[in-house]
Amino acid sequence: MAKKKNTHAAQDWNYSASPESTSHIQLKEKYELFIGGKFVKPSSGKYYKTINPANEQVLAEVAYGNEKDIDSAVKAARKAYNEVWSKMPGKERAKYIYRIARLMQEQSRELAVIESLNSGKTIRESRDIDIPLACNHFFYYAGWADKLEYAYPNRKIEPLGVAGQIIPWNFPVLMAAWKIAPALAAGNTVVLKPAETTPLTALKLAEIIQQSGLPDGVVNIVTGFGDTGAAIVNHNDVNKIAFTGSTNVGKIIQKAIAGTSKKCTLELGGKSANIILEDAPIDQAVEGIINGIFFNQGHVCCAGSRLYVQESVADKVVAKLKHRMSTLIVGDPMDKNTDIGAINSKEQLATIEKYIKIGINEGAEMHQVDCSVPKNGFYCKPTIFTNVAQSSKIAQEEIFGPVLTIQTFRTVDEVIQKANNSPYGLAAGVWTDKGSRIFNLTSKLDAGVIWANTYNKFDPTSPFGGFKESGFGREGGLHGLGGYLKLS
Ligand code: NDP
Repeated sequence: MAKKKNTHAAQDWNYSASPESTSHIQLKEKYELFIGGKFVKPSSGKYYKTINPANEQVLAEVAYGNEKDIDSAVKAARKAYNEVWSKMPGKERAKYIYRIARLMQEQSRELAVIESLNSGKTIRESRDIDIPLACNHFFYYAGWADKLEYAYPNRKIEPLGVAGQIIPWNFPVLMAAWKIAPALAAGNTVVLKPAETTPLTALKLAEIIQQSGLPDGVVNIVTGFGDTGAAIVNHNDVNKIAFTGSTNVGKIIQKAIAGTSKKCTLELGGKSANIILEDAPIDQAVEGIINGIFFNQGHVCCAGSRLYVQESVADKVVAKLKHRMSTLIVGDPMDKNTDIGAINSKEQLATIEKYIKIGINEGAEMHQVDCSVPKNGFYCKPTIFTNVAQSSKIAQEEIFGPVLTIQTFRTVDEVIQKANNSPYGLAAGVWTDKGSRIFNLTSKLDAGVIWANTYNKFDPTSPFGGFKESGFGREGGLHGLGGYLKLS
C-alpha cells in the first residue's frame, strides 16, 4: 500500500502581509503652531523634521515653538478663559466637547494611521485601543461638564484658569485626550505641548478642534522640544501644570513651580509588578504577561515589566511564555498582523539596548525571540531575563521597552515585599483563582492601579495615577476632573 504524504509538514503557516492603506492620509509638508484658533508660523522661523520610526523616512516638518510662542499661546488661552469659556454654561461647553469626540470618531481611521506612522505603534493598537479610548475620554467628560454641582455637592466649584499640559510620545493622541477633555469640562483653557517625536496626531486634533468651532484660544497646541515644555512650566500666567513623562523631568517641574500657586499633577514612570500565584489560570496569565510587557513595544508607564512567579509553577510559566513569545510578529507597524512595532526613536532604542547589556553583565540569563526585523527603522526583539537579582538595575529602573525581568517567590509575604521594593508605585497585576488572595495582595501593594486576572485595562471612568516616584494626582474618572477645579 502506498504511504500517504504528510501534507501538514510541508505547509507554510506564515501570515501574508496585510498592510493598512495610507492612501487616505494627506500629511502636510509643513505644520505650524495652533494658537488662538489659527495655524501660525513659529516666531523663530525654525522647523524640525519628524520621522516614521519604522523606516526612518521623513513625514513632515514641524514648527519649533519657543518662549515667545508659548507667551502668545498663554495670552490666547487667558483671553479665551476670561471672555468666553469660564462664562459659558456647562451645558454649552459639553456640546463642544461632544462635537470634538464625534469628529474624532468620524476621522478615526486617519488618526489611527497617522498615529502609527509617527509613533511606530502597531495599527491594530492605534485603531482598536488608542483612538477609541481617546474619543471615549471626550465623550465621558462631555457628560460631566453640566453636572459639576452634582459631582461635588454643597461645594463652591471654580475652574483653575489656564492649564499647561505636557505629554509624552508613547500614547500621543490618547494623552492629549486625557489632558484636554477634563480641563475643558471643568471650564479651563489649555496650552498643550506634544512630545518632539510624535507631534502629528496632536496637530490633526488641532484641525478637528478648529472644525468643531471651539472658540478661538480655548485649546492651543505648541510643538517643540524640552525647552518649549519648560517655557510652559515657567510661564507666570499658567495656573496648572499637568505632565506625563519621565521621573527626571517630573522632578525638574516640581522644583520649577515650588513656591508658586500653580497646581500640578505628575504622571511619571513605573516598574510595575505582575504577580502569578501557583493557583492562577496559567494560560490566561501568560497572555496577561505578554500583554503587560509587549503592548505598545513596552513603551507603557504601567507596563508589567517585573514578573514575579510562584516557585512551584515558575518553570511551567517560563516555558509557556517562551513558546508564546515565539509566535509574536515583530515588524512593520502598518501591517495588521504585527504584534510588536517599532521603537519610538533611535535614542530610546539605544536606551533599551544599554539596559539589555547591563542585564547580561549583571549575570542575568537573557532569552530573546529569534526573529528577523526590518533593516531600516528602530526595532527590538522581545526579551526576557531570568535569574534576576532584586537589586539589579534591570529590575529597579524603568527600561520602557519590550524587556521583562522574571523573579520567583515562595510566599505571599515575600512577593509583597519584593513588589513594593521599588522607587515606583504606578501599577500591579495579580493572577490567582482565589478572591481572598486578590483582596489580601491588592490591599498591601503600593500601586495606584492594580489589575486582577487581567492587565492594561483602561476606561475613562476609572482614575489612573501613582504613588512614590510614579507621581501624584489622578487622571480619568471624577478624580481626573477634580484636578482641574478649585473646590471650596
Ligand atoms: P521626557 O520626560 O523627557 O518627555 C516627556 C515630555 O516632557 C515631552 O513632551 C518632552 O518634550 C517634555 N520635556 C522634556 N524636558 C522638559 C522640561 N525640562 N520641562 C518641561 N517639559 C519637558 O521623556 P523622554 O521622551 O525623554 O523619555 C525618557 C524616558 O522617560 C523614557 O525612557 C521612559 O523611561 C520615560 N518616559 C516615561 C513615560 C511615562 O508615561 N511614564 C513617557 C515617556 C517617557 P520633548 O519630547 O520635546 O523632549
